Amino acid sequence: MPMSNDDRIDELRAEGVELVAGSVTDPAGVTRAKYVPLRRLGDFQRSGMGVSPSWSVFCVDSGIAFTPTIGVDGDLRIRIDPADTRIIDTGVAWAPGNLTDQAGDVVPLCLRSLLAKSEQAAAGRGLTVQVGAELECTMLAPDGGPASVEPWSPYGIRTSLDRSALLVDLAATAERAGLMIEQIHTEYGHDQLEVSLAPTTPVAAADAVILARIVLGRVAARHGLRISFAPVPFEGAAGNGAHLHLSLTDKQGPLFSGGEGPHGIRPAGGSAIAGVIDTLPDLIGVYAGSALSALRLKPGNWAGAAACWGLENREAAVRFIAATPGSPHGANVELKLIDPSANPYLAAAAFLSSALRGIDRELELPAEIPQNPAQSATVPPPLPTGQRAALDAIESSTVAAELLTPEVVEALLAVRRYELDTYGDRPPAETTQALRLAWSC
Ligand code: GLU
Ligand code: MG
Repeated sequence: MPMSNDDRIDELRAEGVELVAGSVTDPAGVTRAKYVPLRRLGDFQRSGMGVSPSWSVFCVDSGIAFTPTIGVDGDLRIRIDPADTRIIDTGVAWAPGNLTDQAGDVVPLCLRSLLAKSEQAAAGRGLTVQVGAELECTMLAPDGGPASVEPWSPYGIRTSLDRSALLVDLAATAERAGLMIEQIHTEYGHDQLEVSLAPTTPVAAADAVILARIVLGRVAARHGLRISFAPVPFEGAAGNGAHLHLSLTDKQGPLFSGGEGPHGIRPAGGSAIAGVIDTLPDLIGVYAGSALSALRLKPGNWAGAAACWGLENREAAVRFIAATPGSPHGANVELKLIDPSANPYLAAAAFLSSALRGIDRELELPAEIPQNPAQSATVPPPLPTGQRAALDAIESSTVAAELLTPEVVEALLAVRRYELDTYGDRPPAETTQALRLAWSC
């Protein structure tokens, strides 16, 4: 029998919880929340907490990008499931919310529900889906400047052990929050960290991304630091990726192993990869469409800026990971070009639904590019470069509207075009400074 809300309140109270947050992550990729005292936990489910429809067109700064259909009138609700609450800080629990109307029905701009629909679409085809997320981020000083100035060594045992108190706190806080961290390391960029999460079903995976961002932010604050999820935190610095891994299984087994294709890929697995690559020009503005995305998405950055796939190829948009003893979760595909300014629900929905579209159309797996695409004789098809081109591509894309709905495309374009108008002509150093904390939780 599921636990009653009163029982959950008692449980949380015993853990010292006083306040419950419910959040939604908007098309600009920013997570926003409302809070209730613990005794109102049930109301957060039954009635939800009110938000203006304009929440969907709030921008990365304090701007609002009203559209002809999203204005100042009307009211929506964030509704949470009390069973989803996790303890994120002293006295505070959190749960991911759905965006609903007052009657309780999800609205078209509920991106979490959009991902749930893609998950159901996969289930309708007899497929189970696992998604795993990697979070790269940059530690900052409290004033938003560099956290440290001493030399950095990528993946260095010194750079991580120097921060062991923070990392121990991170591991402990994550466990308490039920966040399944698989691995932590200090990354290539100065003061850069990476946390990878255990694969799970798509909506749970995107929820875990938000939980991980919250946990990282709270832990860092306890250690006198802040965390940036900007695609590029400082001009010229290494970028932060938000790579997602995807695996699909039907009743015969995994689609990416056990078959006759390259590296054991089965025909439907090949079509799924083809579907993802086929839609990259249309959806790059979903995966990496913010004012800072293009600074990262360049050859040589291991950001997957080339529209191709290859076994363990870190310069390919789709890095294929084969089933080996070194890959305990089995074969999967990693979409590397996603950055943390993308809404993780929307990015996962685009990734999964483009894979399903490839399967439906029986698209043919393109030739593998096994080496750095810059040195390959086969040149991958070009991708739109820069924010303007990426947004123009979504705007004219029938695939984007079909996979993500016209309402979502309209809101996404509104907030990203606002960024283009506001920051497009500014020097990168100014934009990195302005937006360094935009996606922090
Ligand atoms: N930091 C790189 C990015 O922007 C990824 C590095 C890696 O492969 O882990 O995506
Ligand atoms: Mg990494």
